[in-house]
Amino acid sequence: MHVIDKRPHIAGNAFDEYDESGILIHRYGPHIFHTASERIFRFLSRFTDWHPYEHRVRSVVENELYPFPINRDTLNRLYGLRLDEADAAAFFERVREHRDAIRNSEDVVLNSVGRDLYEKFFLNYTRKQWGLEPSQLKAGVAARIPTRTNTDDRYFSDTYQAMPLHGYTRMFENMLDHPNIRVETGVDFIDVSDRDRYSHIVYTGPIDAYYGYRFGPLPYRSLRFEHEHLPKVEWFQPVGTVNYPNDHAYTRITEFKHLTGQQHAGTSIVREYPQAEGEPYYPIPRDENEVLFKRYEALALAEHRVTFVGRLAQYRYYNMDQVVGAALAAAKRILERP
Ligand SMILES: Cc1cc2nc3c(=O)[nH]c(=O)nc-3n(C[C@H](O)[C@H](O)[C@H](O)COP(=O)(O)OP(=O)(O)OC[C@H]3O[C@@H](n4cnc5c(N)ncnc54)[C@H](O)[C@@H]3O)c2cc1C
Repeated sequence: MHVIDKRPHIAGNAFDEYDESGILIHRYGPHIFHTASERIFRFLSRFTDWHPYEHRVRSVVENELYPFPINRDTLNRLYGLRLDEADAAAFFERVREHRDAIRNSEDVVLNSVGRDLYEKFFLNYTRKQWGLEPSQLKAGVAARIPTRTNTDDRYFSDTYQAMPLHGYTRMFENMLDHPNIRVETGVDFIDVSDRDRYSHIVYTGPIDAYYGYRFGPLPYRSLRFEHEHLPKVEWFQPVGTVNYPNDHAYTRITEFKHLTGQQHAGTSIVREYPQAEGEPYYPIPRDENEVLFKRYEALALAEHRVTFVGRLAQYRYYNMDQVVGAALAAAKRILERP
């Protein structure tokens, strides 16, 4: 097997590395592993031990930090209330704007938490993150974020939540460490001319690029990452990620030591600035983009010797575990070919 990547390293967007001060950072923004699938967790456990980690996020609203996703503590602190679980459920029932049909992300949020929470926590974050109004995004984008009547302040509720003990790059190095696997970085697939010598190709780049953008480019949202090391600050913020829905040009700040459990006298953080141009990071979940993708997908489905897997090749807003699941399913299909 021959694995290539046009970047100078393996591990895709999950790539992590030690920065100049010796702190393990994620070059392409924070990656937190979580899955409900025992099978996927077990598969990855063949290549890494784990550091247990449950991600926690706070959102800054009018200079105060609140638990996010919204839970009972968020309500009690924001509105000066003392709701119990049943009260919190009644609160949401009172403030929600009932929608018969959930057509987009605005409908999802208004239907579950109402206008004030929507405007404080979601509206401007979405505008910054996507450069679009929530009403222009598919419902699935907002539906990823739960609303809780209890005080659970974990960002994810999956059974398996952990970080690879020595990082993602090491985990992928272990996965690729096999006498039948040859890895070459800094090689663009487009420049590989003798493709016929491969009995099968698994393509993980953008599907529109594979087909020379013949139906036009698929839209992506990009990001600029601003990494910073603070040598004299042991902890910059109380949790892994702090969201800034209403202030600043960046959406959020992540402090890596929270994620990895690393001990260090200083700390390293990253700010994420969404932008239209640049590396394709997020497929933009809109109906018209899905229609365009389907045209490319029809070409891909007719290929016998090429399998398209991953966020860019399948134009899906996939998490890491979902990509692992898609890759395992694709591997099974390829191995079981007649
Ligand atoms: C900011 C950010 C935060 C994220 N946080 C999380 C998180 O907390 N948890 C989570 O589960 N998921 C997270 N994700 C999603 C995660 O990054 C993806 O699910 C995962 O990286 C997808 O793997 P992939 O192999 O499909 O794509 P990628 O990781 O993007 O890998 C594709 C690779 O293909 C290479 N490539 C592309 N075109 C070519 C070409 N022509 N020739 C050669 N090589 C090429 C690219 O260089 C890249 O290395 C996040 C994503 C981003 C952008």
